[in-house]
Amino acid sequence: MSTTEVPTLKNVVGGEIVDATTGELEDVLDPATEEVVARAPLGGPADVLRAVDAASAAARDWGRTTPKDRATAMLALADALDAHEGELADLESRDAGKPRGAALEEVQSCSDHLRFFAGAARTLNGQAAGEYSPDHTSLIRREPLGVVGQITPWNYPLAMAMWKIGPALAGGNTIVLKPSELTPLTTVRLAEIAREVLPPGVLNVVTGHGVPVGSGIVDDRRVRLVSLTGSVATGRRIAAAAGERLAITHLELGGKAPVVVLDDADLDAVVEGIKVGGLYNAGQDCTAGCRVIATPGIHDRLVEALVAAFEGVVVGEPGGTDGGPGPDDVELGPVISAAQRDKVLGFVDRAADAGAQVLTGGGRVGERGFFVAPTLIAGPAQDSEIVQKEVFGPVVTVQRAADADEALTWANDTVYGLASSVWTRDVGAAMRFSRELHFGCVWVNDHMPYLSEMPHGGFGDSGHGKDLSVYSLEDYTRIKHVMISLD
Ligand code: NAD
Repeated sequence: MSTTEVPTLKNVVGGEIVDATTGELEDVLDPATEEVVARAPLGGPADVLRAVDAASAAARDWGRTTPKDRATAMLALADALDAHEGELADLESRDAGKPRGAALEEVQSCSDHLRFFAGAARTLNGQAAGEYSPDHTSLIRREPLGVVGQITPWNYPLAMAMWKIGPALAGGNTIVLKPSELTPLTTVRLAEIAREVLPPGVLNVVTGHGVPVGSGIVDDRRVRLVSLTGSVATGRRIAAAAGERLAITHLELGGKAPVVVLDDADLDAVVEGIKVGGLYNAGQDCTAGCRVIATPGIHDRLVEALVAAFEGVVVGEPGGTDGGPGPDDVELGPVISAAQRDKVLGFVDRAADAGAQVLTGGGRVGERGFFVAPTLIAGPAQDSEIVQKEVFGPVVTVQRAADADEALTWANDTVYGLASSVWTRDVGAAMRFSRELHFGCVWVNDHMPYLSEMPHGGFGDSGHGKDLSVYSLEDYTRIKHVMISLD
């Protein structure tokens, strides 16, 4: 692509498409080709102020719309997303290095989330009114928070934005959203599309870096809730800054999901589950099934089958250099950046130095793009870095536990608490693990499927608050007690 063809993105603020006040731009790379795919505005403090001004100005009217009217607007936005799904999938594929088919499914899931939240908006209520004192009636109002700040990561740029936008709109809030500086394309396009169906100022998008744009959103006292999907380190920084002014935080952070495989598990299903659950999105998934713990009766067969499965994974450029659909069979694209690739390979090298066996992968694929080979590591110690730290790349470890009890102990021995799975045909064992695994999600004989209707969110260092489901609507609304004297 020549320099002149590279599009320049803009921010969307108060219903207008605007340049950043700084006038500065930053290159956005295609991780598969290392080519510049766009230039994005580098927002500054004045851009945050302008966006929060716009969101504040829109908050009163949007907050007073009826649930029906909000739902109608959200359904129109879902239809508009459907109408642009091919374009959005192309952008997402190039920006984040996703196989085109996966990018399309993710875009389609976004309109489904919106439709779910459009319906859910109409179910919002408080507890029934009643007399709890003889001469007073009490009632509960569920109200919008006002302006909410939303900060998203690079691994699922559009989907993570939609997980936040859906409940915020349904709850009657207005939004200032900052996408990751690495992947702003689809979020900006979404905001442009949304101008057709949402009132000005309801959804504002400002691009730029964590500091000053993200931090500016967190520090603005008019922003009542700050929602982040990102790393634990960023979550801590945001929680500390938001804590200074006692703003509410909603934090979807990292993970290190265990995949517990018991002797009686269906081997073929497990292998497919780990191939998908561990390698989807090049392993850059907070719920990635990256930490397999197998009991002795299945361990060796599982390792052998996983090596074969990983070596059969088709790695390649996801979207082609013209932005069109890539080869249908590509299963694994690049990781997001050279820095991420080097970070992932550093983890693998240190795991080998610490005595674990790299059975397959462990290096780059090709000279161009940020590709990492699907990597399987056997025998790491429970307290080793590769078992305890989030790698965020196509790297899966397998540990041999002495029995189911040790498997459970190791599975829970982590600071994270986002997602987990257990594989067994024994209903009793499945129920016991479902109760004992300390994670926000336990899959039984599967790993990774999501539903709009069901909550996603972690325990421990994986953060707090729920995405998806009616539980996220609760996070995006506040409860008010109104007490009426009958005298
Ligand atoms: P990151 O923490 O580096 O960045 C996330 C966002 O925070 C970006 O938009 C970034 O610009 C912004 N940011 C950075 N510093 C900031 C600051 N001081 N103030 C305000 N904003 C700031 O994360 P990432 O590398 O983009 O994403 C990968 C991480 O996200 C992984 O740890 C992954 O597990 C996590 N993640 C979690 C979930 C979940 O649902 N729990 C989903 C996807 C990704």
